[in-house]
Amino acid sequence: MSGSARERTATEVVPGVLRLEEPDGPRWICQFVVNAPDAVLIVDAGLPGSAERSVLPALRRLGARDRSLLITHPDTDHCGGTAELVAAIPGLEVIAHEADRDALGDPDRTIERRYRRFAADGVEPDAAALARLRRRLGGAFRVDRTVADGHELRLGATIASVVHLPGHSPGHVGVWLPDARVLIAADAAMGAGIPTMDGRLLYPPQFFSPSVYRATLERIARLRPGVMLCTHEPVLEGAAVDAFLRASRDAVDALEAHVDAALAGGARTLPEICAAVHALHGSLPDGRAADLAMTVAGILEAMVGARCADVTATPAGRAWSAAA
Ligand SMILES: [Zn+2]
Repeated sequence: MSGSARERTATEVVPGVLRLEEPDGPRWICQFVVNAPDAVLIVDAGLPGSAERSVLPALRRLGARDRSLLITHPDTDHCGGTAELVAAIPGLEVIAHEADRDALGDPDRTIERRYRRFAADGVEPDAAALARLRRRLGGAFRVDRTVADGHELRLGATIASVVHLPGHSPGHVGVWLPDARVLIAADAAMGAGIPTMDGRLLYPPQFFSPSVYRATLERIARLRPGVMLCTHEPVLEGAAVDAFLRASRDAVDALEAHVDAALAGGARTLPEICAAVHALHGSLPDGRAADLAMTVAGILEAMVGARCADVTATPAGRAWSAAA
């Protein structure tokens, strides 16, 4: 595809903030660039190939500046292009939150921490899916610096604040641009789930703890962003931000109710509970119950903590039941 055709995927959302959109199978993914007079902050590296397709052409137009890359969290579509960007940009500093550092940089470790986390409970990608994940994670890279909530990335006169928005991953971060009231949120809030280009649901909301995820939704609401930039959503502005946060909260409520009902219906193992929740949900793609594993396991853990469910260890993994 020609450069000019690709350039149409780059939009300046507000002055100095670029949104680079590209197709990823049935869905959209985005990377973001904060362009300050003296420095450029890239937020997320996309997939292998994203560097040449979208990020590097955008950077070439901006000219040489100090460049850094903030990785919001360790999923393929956010960190898979990192090694290529590091190779292409001398001195590129790679930044992430401390809590996700272990899951970043070594693709095999990312697979263990992120995508095979529930293997012992009987949910794991098959060999073909693992090979695809491995390809999409790209090459190894080093995280040069870790940051925590409130860290200010100084880009000349522009202040970009790191906001810790855990839930989708323990170290998920966003970038808050207070002057423009823009929040680059990536996957910190997920609405009803990740949509396809034609508006169907591709993935459920994925979070490791409902309470941590809810707190992040509240945090975003308190920031009152005028513009919120999510990786798999159109640009959200004004009332659309509130509606998206409401949809995100409603989705947690619904998933909790489904897990509760699945236990009452006798489901016990993680694959069984995911299958039951998938059936109750009704709007997720066929055959994709395993996409619910992180969310369902997080809800179950919260239920056990609240003494609403019991968990026992079995040779085939953990088994849950409604509290007696
Ligand atoms: Zn994503």
